[in-house]
Parts: sequence; C-alpha cells; structure tokens
Amino acid sequence: MRKNKQSEIMYFNTENYVSYRCAYCGQKNVTEIDISMGFVQEYIEDCQVCCCPNTLKIMFNEISQSLDIDVTYSG
Ligand SMILES: [Zn+2]
Repeated sequence: MRKNKQSEIMYFNTENYVSYRCAYCGQKNVTEIDISMGFVQEYIEDCQVCCCPNTLKIMFNEISQSLDIDVTYSG
C-alpha cells in the first residue's frame, strides 16, 4: 500500500470545523472535531468527493489553538 503522509496546520475555530485534503484525490474536505473527546484523536473518514477512506490523526495544540492533521491512506 502506498503511503502519502502529509501534515497541515489548520486553525481551530469556534465551530470546530476544520478542513483537510484527501490523501487519494487531493480535494478539500471539511470535518467536525469534538475536542472534548481528546486532544489527540485518530479515526477513519470517507472523502466527501471520492468516498475513499482517509485515516485522520488529529492533534490539538491547546496553547496555539491550532490543529495539526495527518491524513494517510486507510487499509
Ligand atoms: Zn478524495
């Protein structure tokens, strides 16, 4: 399986929506993050454009109020 690891800094906003680029098609997706579930989260979400499963690893930096998202191929 190919790996295409990318890291992007996304700014956290009050509505908890963040965007990331799909590891498969490169299109932007928007996802809702519930920080109360933890500052580090990892889950699989299907791309809203090509429906391929992306593994999202989300790390919230409480001090800078920013999110770091790693998007990788799943499966
Ligand atoms: Zn996609």
